[in-house]
Amino acid sequence: MADALPVFKYHPDPLATGSVETSDAVCFGCNGARGYIYTGPVYAEKFDDLSLCPWCIADGTAAQKFGASFGDTGTVDGISAKAREEIGSRTPSFTAWQQDRWLACCGDGAAFLGPAGAGELKRDFSGAVRAVREHLENGYGLEDEDLEEFFKGLRKDGDATAYVFRCLSCGNYLAYVDEA
Ligand SMILES: [Zn+2]
Ligand SMILES: [Zn+2]
Repeated sequence: MADALPVFKYHPDPLATGSVETSDAVCFGCNGARGYIYTGPVYAEKFDDLSLCPWCIADGTAAQKFGASFGDTGTVDGISAKAREEIGSRTPSFTAWQQDRWLACCGDGAAFLGPAGAGELKRDFSGAVRAVREHLENGYGLEDEDLEEFFKGLRKDGDATAYVFRCLSCGNYLAYVDEA
């Protein structure tokens, strides 16, 4: 049996989101094969294809040893340096089409719940439907049938995907859409 995954405040279920997978791969951080490996983006100046286990992300080993960073809070205002550091250095990120970016609410980073298409939004993240529509309206300038069409075309593994977050304080859903 593999160990239980570390707890990530800002990415509560990285197995469900696909950012961590069961794997026999060896982690470059601890040289261990602990049963899980990170599949999301790693930004590290001097290293390509870093294979990292979730524990070496959680305890800061990956950040210290390789200068690796993960979640991008560069576009987010009004969160603490501590939250920025935790999301950037000790939280698994996720693979998006153009760029993963972290969303925030109530002065803190939000929890990433996963990539979603129209089906997942209806089934698993119905609370996020409004946030996605708002993003399509304000970010994409879509309305009425055009917005409906675009919304219906969202796919978890397709060319346009919604990335769903939830505020850790007020519980509101947040989302943005990214395209291939
Ligand atoms: Zn490791
Ligand atoms: Zn909030």
